[in-house]
Amino acid sequence: MWIDTHCHLDAPEFAPDLDEVRARARQAGVGHCVIPAVAVPHFGAVRELAQRLGDSYALGIHPLWVPQSTEADLAALAQALAAHAHDPRLVAVGEIGLDFFVAELQTEVLRARQEAVYRAQLQLARQHGLPVILHVRRSADRLLKHLRELCPPGGWRGIAHAFNGSVQQAQAFVALGLKLGFGGALTFDSARQLRRLATELPLEALVLETDAPDIPPWWLYRTAAERAAGQRQGRNEPAELPRIAAELAQLRGLAPEALAEQLRHNAVSALPRLAGLLPS
Ligand SMILES: [Zn+2]
Repeated sequence: MWIDTHCHLDAPEFAPDLDEVRARARQAGVGHCVIPAVAVPHFGAVRELAQRLGDSYALGIHPLWVPQSTEADLAALAQALAAHAHDPRLVAVGEIGLDFFVAELQTEVLRARQEAVYRAQLQLARQHGLPVILHVRRSADRLLKHLRELCPPGGWRGIAHAFNGSVQQAQAFVALGLKLGFGGALTFDSARQLRRLATELPLEALVLETDAPDIPPWWLYRTAAERAAGQRQGRNEPAELPRIAAELAQLRGLAPEALAEQLRHNAVSALPRLAGLLPS
């Protein structure tokens, strides 16, 4: 059985056929999806979906939603975490982090605002004893700095999702107690550094995810030229996870069953409440 540790099932792309998407994933062997929220207006939707689909969810404010968010949003997050503190399906604070790639977020004011919102959410995670699900985009060193300041090494739990940094940064997240999330990006032959990381890092450090509907694997990806010629970018979905996993298994020289077993263990270690939710 596979676990998609990061999958935006509440995204508008899935609105027309969500039940078929989830059924296809189950058919393909994906027994569980973790659905992270991106902003306060999504909190109700991710919780209800997790409940209805037998999956789990995380609550947080994504860095791309920071420009539209206010202090009231942080207060709403604090309130939601308190209200659902004992919900077994609430597995983490996320998706939170820093995005230093998207051009509009690069003003001095918005960088500072992103850091303040990220740090406040790390503190909420500490208060509630919850793991974190981190968005890392050209921001690993700043993410690490705040993690280090708020908790001694080894004290964090959670996932640095869609990880795509250096070996040193990977090791630094792992030393703090986090796992690294890999997905469709590792299926590209051209992603040499990422494939090397996925192959050489300790297996205990990895979890798999799709980040659906984003980050399509190569077989769904349409190049800029193809898109200009009218082809649509393929929609990623959790049913793709086993094929992504097969590529990882091949890179590591493992049987898919052995990989699935270890990754299940890793996911539970990153998000301990999964232990009570996964079919045995
Ligand atoms: Zn995401």
